[in-house]
Amino acid sequence: MLPAGWHRRFEHRASEERPLAPLTTFRIGGPAQIFVEPQDVDELAEAMANLKKGGIPWRILGGGSNLLVADKGVRGAVVSLARLSAVRKRDRMLEVDAGARLIEVVRIAASAGLEGFENLAGIPGRVGGAVFGNAGSRYGAIGDLVVALDLMEPDGTLLRVVPPAGFFRYRGSEVGDRIVVRALLAGSEADPKLLRAKVRDLVRERRASQPGWVGNAGCIFKNPPGHAAGRLIDAAGCKGLRVGGVFVSQRHANFVENDGKGTSSDVLRLVDRVRDRVRKAHGVELEMEVRRWE
Ligand SMILES: Cc1cc2nc3c(=O)[nH]c(=O)nc-3n(C[C@H](O)[C@H](O)[C@H](O)COP(=O)(O)OP(=O)(O)OC[C@H]3O[C@@H](n4cnc5c(N)ncnc54)[C@H](O)[C@@H]3O)c2cc1C
Repeated sequence: MLPAGWHRRFEHRASEERPLAPLTTFRIGGPAQIFVEPQDVDELAEAMANLKKGGIPWRILGGGSNLLVADKGVRGAVVSLARLSAVRKRDRMLEVDAGARLIEVVRIAASAGLEGFENLAGIPGRVGGAVFGNAGSRYGAIGDLVVALDLMEPDGTLLRVVPPAGFFRYRGSEVGDRIVVRALLAGSEADPKLLRAKVRDLVRERRASQPGWVGNAGCIFKNPPGHAAGRLIDAAGCKGLRVGGVFVSQRHANFVENDGKGTSSDVLRLVDRVRDRVRKAHGVELEMEVRRWE
């Protein structure tokens, strides 16, 4: 049931048993018991304070591009930040709301002559999710661009944080159980024409070596220190390995693809098989990069 007063307060922006699969790139998973999509920071703060008061557990949804949602769905509330999506230019910086799409931010930065953002070209998802997981490529990660973050505590309190050294690590951060609401991102000055060309090249490079944006959740495993997970998986003979509706991509061995009939339990069984084979072949333990919602 929705918390008291939410029907009136959030209208169609709050619902019950909302299917999550269409909100993820994997297209897998059951519904959220409670779903809310605040339209501004005040609404977000109010929703969080209500959830805290009601003792209702919550999770934040960005672009759903790094998520594996359980087949039975999730209890408690899923708070989507998709409506908080403004991008403002401030001198050599962009002030970006957490729900802004990363591709949009990369495009705006290139046109504004801000260098550094192009390293994130072709990564799906939204800025809050990217900051939470320190999304990046072999050229650089979003943490390299962050000057300051507006984070919300679970009770709705907002604070500005200048991330200290060590705040960001490989595919992770110290955001913890706070919500990324806004990020101040800085780049150095460069020729917009060159930056736009770099973005195009990087997107082309990805298209040639990875599946598209639907039916997978990006790299399923983190790269173990000193190794590329995709190479280990390929060398262990896992390309094409299938469980139910999901299989190890032929294009890139670190991607698991959903043929449209895949389930979360298919993915987890396939992940176990790949891990076993890689452990036997190389003596290396793979850790999942994709986040599990259970
Ligand atoms: C085809 C494809 C290619 C990809 N390539 C890359 C790549 O090159 N590099 C890379 O790093 N990733 C890659 N990814 C994975 C994914 O796009 C990134 O991890 C992305 O940054 C996730 O952002 P999201 O908004 O989709 O987060 P979601 O999937 O919605 O959420 C991921 C996690 O972040 C948390 N979260 C989301 N928003 C917030 C917020 N505002 N505050 C606090 N926590 C939050 C969620 O609760 C969840 O735990 C790829 C994915 C796909 C499908």
